[in-house]
Amino acid sequence: MFTDYVKIIAKAGNGGDGAVSFRREKYVPAGGPDGGDGGKGGDIYFEVDPDKNTLLDFRYQKKFKAESGKNGEGSNKYGRSGEDLTIKVPRGTVVKDASTGKVLADLSQKGQKELILAGGRGGKGNTHFATATRQAPRFSQEGEKGEEKELILELKLLADVGLVGFPNVGKSTLLSAVTDATPKIADYHFTTLEPNLGVVKGEYGNSFVIADIPGIIEGASEGIGLGIQFLRHIERTRLLLHVIDVSGSEGRDPVQDFETIHSELKKYSEKLAQRTQIIVANKIDSMQDETLYQELEKLAKEKNLEIYRISAATGKGVKELMNHVSEVLKTLPKEDLIEIEQEKKVYTLQEEPEFTITREDGVLTVMGPAVEKLMRTVNLEDNESLYYFHRRLGELGVNDALKQAGVKDGDTVKISDWELEWYD
Ligand code: GDP
Ligand code: MG
Repeated sequence: MFTDYVKIIAKAGNGGDGAVSFRREKYVPAGGPDGGDGGKGGDIYFEVDPDKNTLLDFRYQKKFKAESGKNGEGSNKYGRSGEDLTIKVPRGTVVKDASTGKVLADLSQKGQKELILAGGRGGKGNTHFATATRQAPRFSQEGEKGEEKELILELKLLADVGLVGFPNVGKSTLLSAVTDATPKIADYHFTTLEPNLGVVKGEYGNSFVIADIPGIIEGASEGIGLGIQFLRHIERTRLLLHVIDVSGSEGRDPVQDFETIHSELKKYSEKLAQRTQIIVANKIDSMQDETLYQELEKLAKEKNLEIYRISAATGKGVKELMNHVSEVLKTLPKEDLIEIEQEKKVYTLQEEPEFTITREDGVLTVMGPAVEKLMRTVNLEDNESLYYFHRRLGELGVNDALKQAGVKDGDTVKISDWELEWYD
């Protein structure tokens, strides 16, 4: 099971509705309007949590909802705002809109926090609608809906060094030799199903993060095997250690192995294939045929790549390799590696435009959540409210849509349970 890609649904809080209320005063039959505004719905933020390394939690909880704002009340009482919700994710998480694939945030900085979904604004109470000629507005504004989106969370590990190579060449063994990480080590392919991260520290100079990228095999770039799942993890490493088994124990041909993996990397991303690479010839303790190593060394020279001989199992050459890696890392830039351009977020908190118009026996029926809600909040027997109602229909685009649908003067238009006659 992979924990580096999950889909969740998140909904920001709705705004509370504005209230319709009138002052009650002694000996005054109807006081002025005093309906308060609805509270704002809670926003949804995403924040980097340094203690998290995986997206595992999201396998159990997939739905997130920020609190809605409370409705306004009489005596000009504002509704309370809904509480914001902050969703914690590991560093390196990219948040995308599932329906468009657009990147909403790239949470790769320490402590980074981003607004992802905005809560709805609170509706205005009827106090706001009082004018000189309309002293007793019997309507208020509904709260805005909070944004709701299906989101893709993708974790791209932020390691400095990526270990690549065929299964079973000794990547996990090397990782566990130089870090505290405890990856599974076994004698069969695809033992490591989750990429492992470890920190190489102290004795090798400055500390750095190394990731064991499991199982790239031929065809990985086309989605064969599990390799494609892992290729995205190495996109952000600064240095690749290409581990190759030179022992000949599995009948592997080191030169062939190098070419195969290299061409997979290239097919996946040209940029990745050009990343600084060091060839790590592993298992020299059980080398049966020195010529296998020599051919690999020749290839390294041709390609102008450095090559190190090690035994991850016995530790031979490992310290030298890590000291060198630490030195090389100092020369490699960190900033260049964020390859995702952040899309500028534009939050347009429009009203829900969705409604449908159908025509049957000359009667046009308008349906949809926004218009139905409107019908519930207006009082058609009240002139002022009716005026508001017409304006809102215009704002929602219903009038234009009706005209497009060919409505003529005198036609019956049905909205919710109301039948109205159309006059332009
Ligand atoms: P990975 O699939 O690349 O992560 O490979 P592993 O680290 O799981 O190792 C696969 C097998 O190779 C295990 O049986 C290891 O014990 C063995 N192995 C790893 N490094 C060495 C080494 O330097 N010498 C020898 N003889 N065996 C090794
Ligand atoms: Mg492994």
